[in-house]
Amino acid sequence: MLHGKITHSSSVSTALNSLSKEDLDAFLKEHGQSSYRTSQILDWIWKKRVSSIDEMSNLSVELRNLLKENFELKPLVVSKTSGSKDTTFKYLFRLEDGRYVESVLIPANPALYGEKSDRRTLCVSSQVGCAYACKFCASGLAGFTRNLTADEIVGQIVAAERESGETINNVVFMGMGEPLANLKNLMKAIEIITAHWGLEIGARRLTVSTSGLAPSIKQLAEFHVPIRLAISLHGACDEVRDLIMPVNKKWNVDTLFDSLRHWIKHSKRKLTLEYILIKGINDDLDQAHLLAKRARSIKAKINLIPYNTVEGLEWERPSESHCRAFQAIVKKYDVTATLRLEKGHDINAACGQLRLKQETEEGIITAPLKELKR
Ligand code: SAH
Repeated sequence: MLHGKITHSSSVSTALNSLSKEDLDAFLKEHGQSSYRTSQILDWIWKKRVSSIDEMSNLSVELRNLLKENFELKPLVVSKTSGSKDTTFKYLFRLEDGRYVESVLIPANPALYGEKSDRRTLCVSSQVGCAYACKFCASGLAGFTRNLTADEIVGQIVAAERESGETINNVVFMGMGEPLANLKNLMKAIEIITAHWGLEIGARRLTVSTSGLAPSIKQLAEFHVPIRLAISLHGACDEVRDLIMPVNKKWNVDTLFDSLRHWIKHSKRKLTLEYILIKGINDDLDQAHLLAKRARSIKAKINLIPYNTVEGLEWERPSESHCRAFQAIVKKYDVTATLRLEKGHDINAACGQLRLKQETEEGIITAPLKELKR
């Protein structure tokens, strides 16, 4: 559990909604307050969802003032909502420092997809921009700006619930950013999301996706939180993965798989390998055989994702029949492999389509693209 010392900077105040129960307990104790106040305050923040400390009407004026002197409630501000034809919603958030991040709400829609589930998934961002520069993904095009704080991560869920009137019961960390490069804030956010005093979403309904930061995967396993882990593999050997994911030069496929074995051993959780199919780049049927062998060796399942187009990039998805042929080979190895249905493509809310925004006099535009080399 993470509950480091709370530091107060003079310019930016600490978000009250970034504190865990232990953090708040420690603060109240330090100020001679009863620990009973902790649950009252958490209740106001996470259950009643007030937007100001003044609304916490069962606290004394003195205590409210103490809180206001030290913290601020910082709900996320939605700056734009886009609805997709397929019922996906994309929320654009303007952060305190004027940066932007996006989240995507994917409600289950039996009428459209035949899914018999009540899953309401939010795809959340973990950083502003991304430093990992996967060549096929929009999020890394303009580089890395900063980590999101725990309140900014959790705030995406609270704001999406407020805007949509839906209760989110599934969260995927597959928006902008590399969650494992922001491990401290990610774990604090996960604590708030899963806590009975917080959002009460079961850890089994959270999926953290990573481009393959091997040491952080091992570290994550040590937390023993039963989240799901998804690995953005996208190449079954170094030759292919090196081409499209610079992170592979740091931690190659073998090193990555060592960390995955460590994850499975220590967390006792299975994992999913994500594999985007990009025409002519990683969709050779040889890769299907290699991928299946790799997956079988760690009993992972595979999610095949036909590539989503990104403005400014020339990559394309293979034909549907080729995707199916790729899937059929993997399945021959007795490995579960799904071909993912596409959602939100028309509003650029599909995987890999979230990118940095910036404001201009004309409004919000997407960040300029860096020159890209294959
Ligand atoms: N950095 C993390 C989380 C963000 S990406 C990671 O890499 O896993 C979430 C998923 O979207 C990953 O599987 C990623 O590889 C995939 N993705 C990125 N660009 C895509 C695109 N253009 N089409 C389809 N999926 C894409």
